[in-house]
Amino acid sequence: MKVLVAEDSRYYQKVLQDTLNSWGYTVVMANNGIEALEKLSEEDGPKLAIIDWVMPHVDGLEVCQKIREMVNRGYIYLILLTVNASKEDVVRGLEAGADDYIIKPFNEMELKFRLKTGERIINLEDQIMQLALTDPLTGLLNRRAFIDRLESEINRYQRLEESLSLIMVDLDDFKKVNDNYGHLVGDEVLKGVAKCFSSILRKYDFIGRYGGEEFVICLPGVKIKQAGEIAERLRIGMKELIVNKETEPLKLNVTASFGVSTLGEDAFNVHTLTKKADEALYVAKTRGKDQVVLSENY
Ligand SMILES: [Mg+2]
Repeated sequence: MKVLVAEDSRYYQKVLQDTLNSWGYTVVMANNGIEALEKLSEEDGPKLAIIDWVMPHVDGLEVCQKIREMVNRGYIYLILLTVNASKEDVVRGLEAGADDYIIKPFNEMELKFRLKTGERIINLEDQIMQLALTDPLTGLLNRRAFIDRLESEINRYQRLEESLSLIMVDLDDFKKVNDNYGHLVGDEVLKGVAKCFSSILRKYDFIGRYGGEEFVICLPGVKIKQAGEIAERLRIGMKELIVNKETEPLKLNVTASFGVSTLGEDAFNVHTLTKKADEALYVAKTRGKDQVVLSENY
């Protein structure tokens, strides 16, 4: 785990660096409060921080306050490092937003276990975030998480003036699977499809479970023709799907219909891009299912 150390004394920098490294942490060093704020506000920045109180320009208290005002970052666990050991000072530190404090010169074991506490909180937050963002059955992004990610990808690809495509997938006659084989088998089919799609897609593509038997896939950097080819691979790929009913393997020949859209003049945000893909998907259904339709081609 990465730990940010904000410390202006060379001596304490070295001591903390060596100690934390020996416990297996990766240290991100900041020489002052300004550097600390920069490094902590990075998207992939440390989530655990040891902040010296007394530093020039921006001190540790201000770092704590500023971090707590940030909104676009997950929780950061802040340990304030201080020589100010009076009750009033401790209260001021906690009031500024520190989670914990350590008094200099510090006891190694105390630091070790206070860091462990922080690590537990951060891991817990990760788990909660994970639960909030994923569909429990398939492990894919849930609808809301997918939309959020799609929105930021659309903004990014529009800035880069590059293309991005979307595939909407709806399993054909899925109700029959549930009716004929039961919901447990239905669930196995959904899990199997999710796994099959994940194995075919590239690692920077992402998939969401959009609704009951509906999936949605974002293909960054891909134009409509290539997106259609990828959808075709997914359509063929899922024909091999085998699910287990109790101990007996079942080949159910589940098919799906695919609608594909790409960023362009009439598809420029989440709403219009999904609407275009949805319309194409509807055309695929009316043309007899088990096929791919591109939003340009109808
Ligand atoms: Mg200092």
